Amino acid sequence: MEEKKLEFYKSLGLKLTPQRIAILEYLEGNKTHPSAEDIYNALKQNFPSMSFATVYNTLEVLVKKGLIKEIIVDPYKKRFDAFTHNHHHFVCKYCKKVIDVSQKIQFSLPNELKGCEVEDFQVVFIGVCPECKAKEN
Ligand SMILES: [Zn+2]
Ligand SMILES: [Zn+2]
Repeated sequence: MEEKKLEFYKSLGLKLTPQRIAILEYLEGNKTHPSAEDIYNALKQNFPSMSFATVYNTLEVLVKKGLIKEIIVDPYKKRFDAFTHNHHHFVCKYCKKVIDVSQKIQFSLPNELKGCEVEDFQVVFIGVCPECKAKEN
């Protein structure tokens, strides 16, 4: 990892262990929206002593620091996104692939939310991706 990036993470008060650096590198530019299990499985070969709890706790810390976002696409698994700008997602109900949707979606705040301070919203489109659709036919 670049020195500059390491300095940036350190400036956020992030303790940088080799495992944490590996997790950060794995997430950087990663578009697959991995779960904690995915990250653990991808890195455990290089870090046999790393526990699943380490991965999970690191992800929690990174979310708190605003470096990654937890996305709400799968009710059974938390999935994480290193692309933290406001965007939405499409999730395929068969292969669970997640596609980023960056196009702005305009809508007015529902009446039920009057008085609430909305900080963020995520739209999740659910359906069948082109690859799974091709297999269906
Ligand atoms: Zn699919
Ligand atoms: Zn995303």
